[in-house]
Amino acid sequence: MDKLNLPGPKAKEILKEDEKYISSSYTRPYPAVIQKGKGVHVWDVDGNKFMDFSTGIAVCSTGHCHSDVVIAIEEQAETLIHMSGTDFYYPMQVRLAEKLAEITPGAKNKRTFFCNSGAEANEAALKLARWKTERMTVLSYINSFHGRTYGAMSLTASKTVQRKGFGPFVPGIIHIFYPYCYRCTINLSYPSCNFACIDYIEDVVFKRMVAPEEVAALFAESIQGEGGYIIPPDGYFQRLKELLDKYDILFVDDEVQSGMGRTGKMFAIEHWEVIPEIVCVAKGIASGMPLGATVARRGLMDWAPGAHASTFGGNPVSCAAALATIKLLEDKLVENAKEMGEYCMPKLKELMTKYQFIGDVRGKGLMIGIEIVKDRKTKEKDKKKRDRIITECFKRGLLILGCGDNVVRFMPPLIVEREHIDRAVEIFEDVLKEV
Ligand code: PLP
Repeated sequence: MDKLNLPGPKAKEILKEDEKYISSSYTRPYPAVIQKGKGVHVWDVDGNKFMDFSTGIAVCSTGHCHSDVVIAIEEQAETLIHMSGTDFYYPMQVRLAEKLAEITPGAKNKRTFFCNSGAEANEAALKLARWKTERMTVLSYINSFHGRTYGAMSLTASKTVQRKGFGPFVPGIIHIFYPYCYRCTINLSYPSCNFACIDYIEDVVFKRMVAPEEVAALFAESIQGEGGYIIPPDGYFQRLKELLDKYDILFVDDEVQSGMGRTGKMFAIEHWEVIPEIVCVAKGIASGMPLGATVARRGLMDWAPGAHASTFGGNPVSCAAALATIKLLEDKLVENAKEMGEYCMPKLKELMTKYQFIGDVRGKGLMIGIEIVKDRKTKEKDKKKRDRIITECFKRGLLILGCGDNVVRFMPPLIVEREHIDRAVEIFEDVLKEV
């Protein structure tokens, strides 16, 4: 299979300038300098074409520059770009909030706080949970990623580099272990474990660390994203929710990465039919326009005027893009994510039979993770090989990203078709052969 000569001359120039002027804190895994996008494809500044199975980190859910989204953005931009939802009313915001109340799990009597990112959506949820319950402690998960601002970072426990040098963190956050069954922290197996990890919360956390009456909320990604595409086993969230309800603890569902149709349901938590009190959304909600949303029961989101706000949050152009995005998702794309996920998974599982260094393939819809290991028995992680796989895919025109320490993630746009998946798997296998 041919390899592209990367980076090209124009890309090289930009990389030099980028090094001079742009913060060194970003984590670019390979030198992709992207200039334009359409559908499943993007092109770099030298005209090299790539198939984008990273989707701008799970953002461009409707593909790049979908014409319906572009038209909605253009029309709104010509009418009004900004006035601020903090001090003025926006018709577009109300329409979108009504839609979010309808599509998030549970009854429709909900309100939305609009902001600009996933981190901000989680910040709002954290503040709201403490404000409403008048309780200080919050539970979050090891391996979780909720964003980079102080509250969201304090909830996060994915990689130490994301926290190193930034302490002290927001106090009152206790990290418990996620149901990562492939690498169970307490070395048990599902289902015979009988959810011992949930018993641990009640028997250890609530007896030895914090009284449950002091716990405001538990934050959970319904499928962990950045931490390694980790899917809790069936029954986990139902059992967890029973425990939370017993102590009136709010369940905050971070759907920033797993939401907006990616897993073949509008929100991943719907796979387990659990209704969270607060849902945090961003990324795929507006096909690339910056927008975050914190959605909660009406009676819960009744904080005082001035308690929380955002100048840019929910600007009308982003809201228009979101409404166009949701229409496309509802019409066809959520279903397509389910179908294409079902088409893709067996192909990747098949690769497991040929390549011993694939330890696990797991996914729902188009949120698929592939663990790269040194040895299937010991499950020792092979980060080096994972990184090489990603770089080699780039050289062959396929953009994918890693997550966790050793996981490759497949997260194509929800418009993806069989032929794209066939091609991506073909490139992926070519790389697997080489590494
Ligand atoms: N929550 C989850 C589950 C995420 O995956 C991310 C980003 O990767 C965030 C929150 C933070 O979102 P943002 O980068 O928009 O602040």
